[in-house]
Amino acid sequence: MALHQPQTSFDLLRVPGLGRLLRWRWGRLVMQLVMLALALLVIYDGLTGPQLASQNIAAVSVWVHYRGLVMLALLLAGNLFCMGCPFTLPRTLARRISGRGRRWPQALRNKWLAVGALVGFLWLYEAFDLWASPWLTAWLVIGYFAASFVLEALFAESPFCKYVCPLGTFNFVASTISPLQIAARRADVCRTCVGKECVNGSPQTLGCGTELFVPQIKSNLDCTFCLDCARACPHDNVALAARKPLSEFIPLPVRPFASGAAATRLAASAWPQRWDVAFLALVFAFAGLANAFGMTPPVYTLAATLSRALGTRSEALILALIFGLLMVLLPAALGLGAAWLSRRLGAAQDRRANRGSLRVVFARYAPTVAPLAFAIWFAHYWFHFASGALTIVPVTQNFLIDHGVTLLGSQPNWSLGPIMSEDAVFLLVLAALATGFLSSLYALSRTAAAEGTLKAARRAMLPWLALWMILALAAILIFSLPMEMRGMIG
Ligand code: SF4
Ligand code: SF4
Repeated sequence: MALHQPQTSFDLLRVPGLGRLLRWRWGRLVMQLVMLALALLVIYDGLTGPQLASQNIAAVSVWVHYRGLVMLALLLAGNLFCMGCPFTLPRTLARRISGRGRRWPQALRNKWLAVGALVGFLWLYEAFDLWASPWLTAWLVIGYFAASFVLEALFAESPFCKYVCPLGTFNFVASTISPLQIAARRADVCRTCVGKECVNGSPQTLGCGTELFVPQIKSNLDCTFCLDCARACPHDNVALAARKPLSEFIPLPVRPFASGAAATRLAASAWPQRWDVAFLALVFAFAGLANAFGMTPPVYTLAATLSRALGTRSEALILALIFGLLMVLLPAALGLGAAWLSRRLGAAQDRRANRGSLRVVFARYAPTVAPLAFAIWFAHYWFHFASGALTIVPVTQNFLIDHGVTLLGSQPNWSLGPIMSEDAVFLLVLAALATGFLSSLYALSRTAAAEGTLKAARRAMLPWLALWMILALAAILIFSLPMEMRGMIG
């Protein structure tokens, strides 16, 4: 077993006051209750309030604010939404029902279902115009509570977060660029720890719901930042540590866990070398582009062409075809093609190069797209957030006035909306994309360095470099097009 340690000394759980609050037994519950109150407000106003999206708390808070703020939290800290996720609150009741229920099926212990759920969620969003319907947005939130509850009630562990939830899947991949990560404070304490309560739990505390073992965590993938591990550890040995930028994408020296020997070896990657996980990274990137593309004029031309060619007027079917092509087929074909070429080019230069099967090469390089993919999503969600963040003020005023409260004025100020000018937003988008591309390029070059010789590394990374460049240029092109201003006062 390999032991992983944080690379810096900053530990959020050691910050006076805040650390104590985060580790407090009821700390997460307090955050969840606040989020639950917001979720109930979304449901209430979505079902009973004005059905014009730009005047309803459900549509504005979910499709403008949640998405913008979650990206900011991921960039500055980590997976804070999952930390305060209200959908897992009915767990205690569900656990009572499930008792010692069954384990999640072995065949589903991977990310294939999560990839399908993420693509399905994005398709639902576009095909049913969720952004334009407060009523459907409210039902989406209700559906989330129901799905989480049912899976918790049927299975003894917590499969919803790790294997199903599209929001969690999105946050897991996006948080791989985040600056904070769970880690063991002292390796020697973990080596001699008998109960391993961080993962096993104890009669008083829960262990890790997604079954991560603290001293072996190298990635934020699958970590909900719930801090159950920190509360469960009897040795106070869990840190929420700062790490070097992009450290997940750079091979690191690690020490054997069990023996305590000082010998080091080079880790291939922080990510497991699996088809499903690597494919998820690619889908995350292509879905970011497809989702933004879905709000630009060319998508309507493409949909009309397909509609004529196929003789159907079903928008759901047309969008399923477009998204299936852009989010699934394209990343699969281009990713496999890049892996095949990378393998051949590297080996042609140096037969001793650090090659491997197609799966190993695919899984080694595909995750390096994550910083660029994050940038694409960030650019998209911040385009909407920066263009409409202040809309929440008149929407809240309107809600209060409708309920007889004039605390924030007797007339909503519908002129409020943007927090940045259009030019500034476009500059932000370009800066995000440039930073994302350069970060992916850096991760790619560090990954290729494990190929052996410099020439082999250069040749092996070429197909991936070409693919990341195409993605970055496509993103710039899409964000240069006029984009629908969703969730805003027109
Ligand atoms: S319970 Fe604490 S000391 Fe034991 S293995 Fe987990 S993090 Fe290490
Ligand atoms: S390692 Fe597990 S228990 Fe700890 S914060 Fe992450 S998901 Fe929660």
